[in-house]
Amino acid sequence: MLNSFIGVECIRCGRPLADNLIFNGCPHCKDEGYNVNYKTKYNYSKLSKMIKEGEKPFSGKGVWRYRQLLPIKDHTVPITLDEGDTPLRHLKKLGKQLGLSNLYVKDESRNPTWSYKDRLCSVAVTKAVEDGAEAITISSTGNHGAATAAYAAVAGIPCVVFTIPQVPDTMKTLMQSYGAFVVATPTPIDRWTLMKQCVKEFNWVPISGYVSPPIGSNPYGIDGYKSISFEIFEELGEAPDFVSVPAAYSDGLYGVWSGMRDLRELGLTEKLPKMVAAEVFGSLRATLQEKSTKPVSVDAEWSVSFSIAGSLGTYQGLSALKESDGLAETSNDDETMKMQKALASTEGLYAEAASVTSLVAISKLRKAGKIQEDDKIVAVITSTGLKDPAETAKYLPKVPLVEPNLSNLSKVLKEYYSFGI
Ligand SMILES: [Zn+2]
Repeated sequence: MLNSFIGVECIRCGRPLADNLIFNGCPHCKDEGYNVNYKTKYNYSKLSKMIKEGEKPFSGKGVWRYRQLLPIKDHTVPITLDEGDTPLRHLKKLGKQLGLSNLYVKDESRNPTWSYKDRLCSVAVTKAVEDGAEAITISSTGNHGAATAAYAAVAGIPCVVFTIPQVPDTMKTLMQSYGAFVVATPTPIDRWTLMKQCVKEFNWVPISGYVSPPIGSNPYGIDGYKSISFEIFEELGEAPDFVSVPAAYSDGLYGVWSGMRDLRELGLTEKLPKMVAAEVFGSLRATLQEKSTKPVSVDAEWSVSFSIAGSLGTYQGLSALKESDGLAETSNDDETMKMQKALASTEGLYAEAASVTSLVAISKLRKAGKIQEDDKIVAVITSTGLKDPAETAKYLPKVPLVEPNLSNLSKVLKEYYSFGI
């Protein structure tokens, strides 16, 4: 099967993993004041030779169609729920409103637990099981926790999820429904502290990060996002000009960028997209503006885009932007909720608030003249609006009760929806 995985190295200094403490980040960079995740390393010489000779090495579907690009041994049976193979939709109507003729969304809400985290979790949980994990753990505000819980269920291993009380009940129920043991801690930092102790004391395998300041998630799992790039490339027949991804700790942003780099390394494309980090409070945007070599902290508070509403980005996110000559843009709650409604009411896609920040960022960059009308753009929609419908409901009228006659119907439609019949 030509598995090409050869090891793990630091994203910043390139030093190989010295011990098995992969989830703590690079100790050398930490000594120098940088908090940096590891990345996987591959030797694609055989694979690229095959491609050059006209062979088609990828078969099957979804994330595991590209298993030669994953850090998983050939004989390992994947823990899968048929994730991936999501639609790439051309948004003609919304694109026209935004002044963009080639605007696409990669609709990741079609995944098994309705978010793109399924790609990460399929790979991370498969790797954990391959390495003999007896239990897995995660800190999450929802999507990542739900996906981890579902894949733990498939793997048949216990899963402990650390979350925070403010997370919507829908998310908590979803995580518990898969059989995960879900607990909330008083503060976000508490859950990392506790999780770190569990990893150390009980050898539970972490599927998310727990290091503070943050470095990002399980590096093996991040490779699951590479399949997004390959699916986009195969469908468009080329790499787009921009790919926009909602970003906090930037697992998705970095994973998609890694996939794009793989496409180039395999000789499939010379052109690569510029990556766009869609943020709430703009840590990476500030970092680029200040030309800082490490992520800078910004003020943050609770947001409708709670899953990405952090105050500090990660080195991996910054490196994806720097390597791709990319951009970062923010989306406040008002802009986000307006875009959620616009996407649903013009294109029929009801996406999670955090998801549509990828479109808000593109829209603002277009207005600023940094994106041109005919640029080919893919915005990643990371999850469905049904994860938090209560927030959407605040922006909509209460469903009115209508008397069963046409005159009252006419009055009510006019009053509540400005619709005349
Ligand atoms: Zn390092």
